[in-house]
Amino acid sequence: MVQPAQAVSGSSLITVTAPSGAGKSSLLAALIQADSSLRLSVSHTTRQPRPGEQNGREYHFTTVDDFKKRLKEGEFLEHAEVHGNFYGTSRVAVLNQLNEGYDTILEIDWQGAHQIRRLFPETVSIFILPPSITALEERLNKRGQDSQEIIKQRIAAADEEIRHASEFDYVIINNKFDQALSKLAAIVQTARCRLTRQAIKNRDLFEQFGINCCNNQ
Ligand code: 5GP
Repeated sequence: MVQPAQAVSGSSLITVTAPSGAGKSSLLAALIQADSSLRLSVSHTTRQPRPGEQNGREYHFTTVDDFKKRLKEGEFLEHAEVHGNFYGTSRVAVLNQLNEGYDTILEIDWQGAHQIRRLFPETVSIFILPPSITALEERLNKRGQDSQEIIKQRIAAADEEIRHASEFDYVIINNKFDQALSKLAAIVQTARCRLTRQAIKNRDLFEQFGINCCNNQ
């Protein structure tokens, strides 16, 4: 389970959720590039790769049969069906990253974020909103990677996803990229400063000062 891993390493687990086209992936790519202690979890999915996507980089692309087998074997920390495809987060991969001391970001939908929150209440959850539905539509069209039918489906799904924004700890409106990025980075820094994380990462210092907290969990 992740709780002991976080308890050992003091690493933070962060979920980031957004409707398609809110700019989440670009923000996260920039965030990860600027912060060598952060890692993204690479999910498994049954959807087809988009042009330019590489197996093992954006996703582990797999078949429905293989996904269901992994699910049955308990390989996923969380999973969900999104836009007619299955997505899941590898338990072992996330555990390893946390154990290695990397703060880990799960880029998952609201259903997955809900499962992670229930399993690990210390998780920090972030929702990214586009500045308007029109902006969302424009971004999906500009991306040029999906058919019109899929774009329509995703706009309808965005509405549903956005209805869950109120369940998250933090909300970022991605109006200006740089501002949204610095807000995201600020939340990551805030997560790292949580008393429970600091107590684990700085055990010796806490002991020297005689700070007793959280049973060092
Ligand atoms: P896309 O196919 O556009 O990359 O992602 C579609 C949706 O699936 C996005 O909302 C994305 O956050 C979500 N997603 C990607 N990986 C996972 C995962 O491992 N678990 C869950 N629950 N959702 C995921």
